Amino acid sequence: MTDQVLVTGASGFIAKHVLAQLLADGFQVRGTVRSLKRRPEIEAAIARAGSGCAGSGLELVEADLTRDEGWQGAAEGCRYVLHMASPFPPAEPRDPETLIRPAREGTRRVLQAAAAGGVERVVVTSSIIAVMHADKPDHVPRTEMDWSSPSDEEMSTYGRSKTLAERTAWEIIDGLRESGSGHVPELVAINPGVVFGPALDKDLSTSHVLLKMMGRGSYPLLPRVAFPTVDVRDVAAMHVRAMTHERAAGERFICADETLTLRQIGEALVEALPDLKRKVPTRHLPSGLVRFAARFDRNLRSIRGDLDKANLCDTSKARNELGLTFRPAREAVSSAALSLRELGVI
Ligand code: NDP
Repeated sequence: MTDQVLVTGASGFIAKHVLAQLLADGFQVRGTVRSLKRRPEIEAAIARAGSGCAGSGLELVEADLTRDEGWQGAAEGCRYVLHMASPFPPAEPRDPETLIRPAREGTRRVLQAAAAGGVERVVVTSSIIAVMHADKPDHVPRTEMDWSSPSDEEMSTYGRSKTLAERTAWEIIDGLRESGSGHVPELVAINPGVVFGPALDKDLSTSHVLLKMMGRGSYPLLPRVAFPTVDVRDVAAMHVRAMTHERAAGERFICADETLTLRQIGEALVEALPDLKRKVPTRHLPSGLVRFAARFDRNLRSIRGDLDKANLCDTSKARNELGLTFRPAREAVSSAALSLRELGVI
């Protein structure tokens, strides 16, 4: 019998690439969505991914991270769960709980459903943010041993939501193991950097929104920030590999190529689309000014903790233990730019 996989948040940017890879690899795939009306869009995106699958073999079920209904049935009969759903808005929310609650409670619901359904392994999509804000000197590259502190006031609400969600996942698995009262799924966490690579439709991820704004000339100056960067196709490949690889169980994996500054991201954008040269900013916003303005502007507050930081991480674990390679970070940006041009976004 073919292995059944559940992918939560099937309407997401990364999830659509994952669905395409899973279907191409011959898995039976079930995805959760908040509304079944998203089906045509998801099928079209899978077809666009070019893996040779149209998405018609995909089963979709409704479930919301903030509600109990649907999760038990969604996990039923699945051997693997890839938990990708989590809110990722482009702006800081007024109420932090609008992000934190679905991220944390949703993770609990998914893991409990997976345990009750006898799922063998759950792969959670965490974030590099759950790693980078560790209390260490800036020049020391972060590794999978590092944990951000969710009480770090310089971290964005999104960063807190991801850190708390990943912690919740590990705590639930530890709790299940200690209670000794039932099935305990294996857990793997993937910690991707900022994800670029081809957009499959106009439902843009927050990372593509950043490129769109840069390409449209919405930012006259750039804050001095840098992010570990990765191509979505490599993120998808890592999820699929982590799902079955014998050495992945119980591990975290940083998923990134190199760290790019916002200026380097702009350069890669212009390299792909030279006509944007005049619009893409190259000059920096003084960090002191950003810190001052962050007292009044929630969105600037969310990048305060990254200002002037090198934000380096050691990406060797995934390469050595899972045998994965990463496309160059600049190529991830260029391919994203070209896809946004094809979609008529920039
Ligand atoms: P998207 O915003 O494209 O996808 C997020 C998904 O989560 C959507 O399917 C969305 O559903 C779903 N979701 C949000 N809130 C709820 C809810 N209350 N109940 C059920 N589903 C919900 O983001 P990405 O594809 O970029 O991100 C996917 C995962 O990867 C997330 O966990 C994100 O934190 C993580 N990640 C992303 C990075 C990036 O640069 N893109 C970097 C590192 C980690 P709907 O379509 O209905 O809104």
